[in-house]
Amino acid sequence: MSSDAERKMQFLYALRSKGVTDARVLTAMEKTDRAEFVQGGVFADRAYEDMPLPIACGQTISQPSVVGLMTQALEVTPRDKVLEVGTGSGYQAAILSHLARRVYTVDRHKRLVQGARAIFDKLDLTNITAFTADGSFGLPDQAPFDRIIVTAAAEDPPGPLLAQLRVGGIMVVPVGQSDAVQSLIRVRRAEDGLHYDELRPVRFVPLVEGLGRDG
Ligand code: SAH
Repeated sequence: MSSDAERKMQFLYALRSKGVTDARVLTAMEKTDRAEFVQGGVFADRAYEDMPLPIACGQTISQPSVVGLMTQALEVTPRDKVLEVGTGSGYQAAILSHLARRVYTVDRHKRLVQGARAIFDKLDLTNITAFTADGSFGLPDQAPFDRIIVTAAAEDPPGPLLAQLRVGGIMVVPVGQSDAVQSLIRVRRAEDGLHYDELRPVRFVPLVEGLGRDG
């Protein structure tokens, strides 16, 4: 059985070997202990393995290398106001909080939002605000955003989210049919319109309309 320190080293090594090479992203991920976000789950002892794990409400905390690659693709700067759709465990939002000025995160399940808020408080991540809402409509009151990350798969990038992206902004979103393999898409809003590039195949839980039954 390896020590915690060894496990964390292996964790960072796995991230690098899968293409997460941005130093700021790696530092943010090193600061963010994934075990905090899977606590109590039956798979808590697998927190440092590069695999998705089940969390409450039938959802999943994403695979760390995918979190790293998406965060890297988002090119977050310390001035940015970021929106995350799909709070889940709060892991992705916590990583973003080390990279951005301000993070707003929304989930359709109230229970997940409450759980994530408790961890943000415990870890003193004061620049994150979590809301229970249908994130496909974004957060009109807080818009526009410099960066938007969607961590559930949509059939198309939701129009309201595109509309809430500032000129010069970047959005990363998995796109495709819910059960098939999806494509991670990066959208840049320039003065002359939206530019899309396709990054890699991914697999996410679907973006679902409306609030969860618990919220
Ligand atoms: N980013 C998370 C993992 C997200 S799993 C983490 O770091 O742990 C995808 C999440 O998207 C789920 O929690 C699900 O409830 C949420 N979701 C799905 N459709 C949504 C919608 N329309 N609005 C907000 N959240 C949504």
